[in-house]
Amino acid sequence: MGSLSGQEEADVAVIGGGLAGLTIARELCERGLSVVLLEASRIGWGASGRNGGFVSPGYAQGTAAIERCVGRHKASRLHALSVDGMNYVEETIAKAGREDIIAGRGWLHLIRHKRTDALRQWQQAMSDRYGATLEFVDRPALQALLDTQKYHAGVIDPGCFHIDPLAYCELLLELCRAGGVRVHEETRVSGVSRSGQTYHVKSSDGSVRAKSVVVATSAYGGPVGAIERSVLPVATYVVVSRPDSRIGEAIRYRGCITDQRRAGDYYRIVEDEAGQRLLWGGRITTRRSQPAQLSRLMRGDIAGVYPQLGDIEIEYTWSGLMGYARHKMPIVGEIRPGLFAATAFGGHGLNTTAAAGLAIADAITGSKERLALFEDYTMAWGGGIFGRIATQIEYMRLRLVDYIDEI
Ligand SMILES: Cc1cc2nc3c(=O)[nH]c(=O)nc-3n(C[C@H](O)[C@H](O)[C@H](O)COP(=O)(O)OP(=O)(O)OC[C@H]3O[C@@H](n4cnc5c(N)ncnc54)[C@H](O)[C@@H]3O)c2cc1C
Repeated sequence: MGSLSGQEEADVAVIGGGLAGLTIARELCERGLSVVLLEASRIGWGASGRNGGFVSPGYAQGTAAIERCVGRHKASRLHALSVDGMNYVEETIAKAGREDIIAGRGWLHLIRHKRTDALRQWQQAMSDRYGATLEFVDRPALQALLDTQKYHAGVIDPGCFHIDPLAYCELLLELCRAGGVRVHEETRVSGVSRSGQTYHVKSSDGSVRAKSVVVATSAYGGPVGAIERSVLPVATYVVVSRPDSRIGEAIRYRGCITDQRRAGDYYRIVEDEAGQRLLWGGRITTRRSQPAQLSRLMRGDIAGVYPQLGDIEIEYTWSGLMGYARHKMPIVGEIRPGLFAATAFGGHGLNTTAAAGLAIADAITGSKERLALFEDYTMAWGGGIFGRIATQIEYMRLRLVDYIDEI
């Protein structure tokens, strides 16, 4: 189906064809509603098709901060929903017989400073409060997994996994279409208005009349000002190397690998018929333009951890925009009767977009229990240009704190 032209009617119009919009559209059509999905570019074109592919429980905001904001009980229900989101991705892939989308299992969280007791405390808290079974890896055991001196200890979460994110978006698109969702790509929504009980969603060549509208446009410029102003766009970068046999010798762990700095490195091995490549992500900035020397910068980061890979050739580089709210939690709620927001998943969107999909589809079909879990995290002005400057300064401060920690 091409771009939208003329007038259409639906129970629900979903705006934004990333993982949030796709999951919501799929869940709504499975519950028997008629759905139109409108995407400004191509399905998965935003963060959803170009991310690191790490699927894990939790949110962009840390568990301790969530507990402080909403209390232990609600924090634990929010955590359970985030686990449902992770399981949703795995089950969707399994039911479709597309295990090829899952490229590795487990998540190794690493620290670069010597305070291993802090890591043990975190492991204990996650086990006591959230029932997580995490395995502590001390420095000698780490050597068997990674050929680097950079890390002092790690914790493995065996339930996490990594996926090919674009292939997962394409699978969701296939499921949406099979369920009857009308998908229009190359359709930028320019306005949403309401008369009586009906919403009018407009693009340059057409419009949709719908009882409900879901805005899932993240950091890529949505049509509803109040939602857009609440989302701060933050860029992050990924590079993928050419195949190189030294990669598998240096990195023997096949799951997701991250360090626990505030904006640390995340990486994993990507395997194809040509051999093993290294996918390496990191750095965040509120600058929208991609640095001219991105390959060189990222290769410097790789060499800082694995000097033996300092000269690997980078084949692909890209940047992507994440949407953050000031509270670093997703904005998932009904902002006016029949008008829903599902946005601001930050750097933790693979499971949380699925959680939001379930919450919003439930709410539109009558049960607001899951949606209510997000009610403390409302829309607030992200600060515009001042918010971007403040975020950039905060990021630089955190990098300095991380650097001092390692000394
Ligand atoms: C480089 C990178 C690495 C990441 N790594 C991970 C990771 O490993 N694990 C993890 O959990 N998360 C990760 N994330 C975060 C995750 O990708 C996002 O949180 C998630 O994909 C957000 O999904 P979304 O559907 O909200 O937004 P997007 O995927 O950004 O989709 C929004 C869509 O809305 C469309 N749109 C915007 N305006 C309009 C309009 N007016 N009309 C119609 N359509 C419109 C855009 O074209 C876009 O396709 C990463 C993000 C980036 C950028």
